[in-house]
Amino acid sequence: MTAPVDTAARPWVPGPLETAIQERAATYRTLDANAVEAEVHRLLDDHERYMDHECLSLYAGTNVMNPRAVRLLATSVGSRPSLGYPGDKYEMGMQYAEQLEILAAEVLKDLFHARYVEYRVGSGSLANLYAYMVCARPGDLMLAFPPEAAGHVGHHEGGAAGLYGLDVRTVPFDGRRMAVDLDGLAREARALKPKIIMVAGSMCLFPYDVPAVREIADEVGAYVVYDAAHMSGLIASGAFQQPLAEGAHLLTCSTYKSFGGPPSGLVLTNDADLAQRLEYVAYPGMTANFDLSKTAALIVAALDLREHGPAYAQMCIDNAVALATALDAQGVPVYHVEGRGFTASQHVGLPAQRYGGGTPGSRLLERANILVSGIGLPGPECPNDFNAIRIGTQEVTRWGMTPDSMAEVAKLMARVLVGGDDPTAVREAVIALRRDYQTLHYIR
Ligand SMILES: *Cc1c(COP(=O)(O)O)cnc(C)c1O
Repeated sequence: MTAPVDTAARPWVPGPLETAIQERAATYRTLDANAVEAEVHRLLDDHERYMDHECLSLYAGTNVMNPRAVRLLATSVGSRPSLGYPGDKYEMGMQYAEQLEILAAEVLKDLFHARYVEYRVGSGSLANLYAYMVCARPGDLMLAFPPEAAGHVGHHEGGAAGLYGLDVRTVPFDGRRMAVDLDGLAREARALKPKIIMVAGSMCLFPYDVPAVREIADEVGAYVVYDAAHMSGLIASGAFQQPLAEGAHLLTCSTYKSFGGPPSGLVLTNDADLAQRLEYVAYPGMTANFDLSKTAALIVAALDLREHGPAYAQMCIDNAVALATALDAQGVPVYHVEGRGFTASQHVGLPAQRYGGGTPGSRLLERANILVSGIGLPGPECPNDFNAIRIGTQEVTRWGMTPDSMAEVAKLMARVLVGGDDPTAVREAVIALRRDYQTLHYIR
């Protein structure tokens, strides 16, 4: 019998890490309750000072929340389960809290121009699992973006798709145009008869041709799922493609990346039949409790986008273009597509061969308090590592940065990446620059 999870293919904690963790754990085991609580506070204070005030967070998969939404996360509704329809809950005493669910659905449907939304979803990865359960059975085939086109682990064998038992093959990708290879996709779809074609991964420099993908899907009887984990804030703001209107059956989202809300997930659709199945997956299927305090915070975050979304999203894109242009001018290699430019989103990609990979390149910048990450993109590979660095401008945009600030950011990054400066020598300049951007923008 084969085990449901193939641990042989994945080594457990690497030796040196395990040693360091066990050393720290040994110290922690000696602490009494008050000392443990004090340590919790110390770590959180240090984290907030460092990451929210001293770092330039250009990490694509994050954001900073409206403080009024943050406060809602501490409300008592968070520990109240809420099972069933508003007006007919299994639990007693929910007559006020359950109205939040109606409110959330209305605000989110309006924002995404969607007829149905499922908000009882813990995360973007779970949103994808819900989509798999709605569209396919274990053993069915899905086509998804490959890791070398920023495909997400949750679409593949190591993530929710594999754990649910989907047989995953890759969507052919045209790395030169950073686009789906539509002829290749049509061939693969006809040959393999997938149940799902998953569009988008963890980096979207340009919109994808969703209508063409839908045409291919219709020919073979597949569902199109668009994973908007990164793009949900821009899509909700009308500044990027509109996947549902363009033909996607389902739109899955994370809510804490460009959306700027609490860490949660959403699935949206215009199809009544899919919506009904989706609801059944959510409850009674996958949701016992869900955190209504997050739903409340999500409403406030959504209102920010309703009011400021178009300006915020446009500034994210302007900042990304400005940063890419300035990095390129400073001699830092930047991904670009002939005729399309550097980017049409909040994302910028840097080929990372010269840094030994996306992770070592990111570690170098981390020592200068500049936070980015590795990502797989088309192009020459780096042995045992991501071959690119991914940048996202959504957080610095909320901190008030503009294209003028991006020129300064590019100079600091270039000093580390191509100037050969010691990153710790650049750190002070980063902290000094960051000091000028300490208030949040695009919040109501
Ligand atoms: C970040 C990401 C997810 C995961 O979202 P979580 O909310 O962190 O679970 C899913 N899909 C893609 C493409 C992502 O980049």
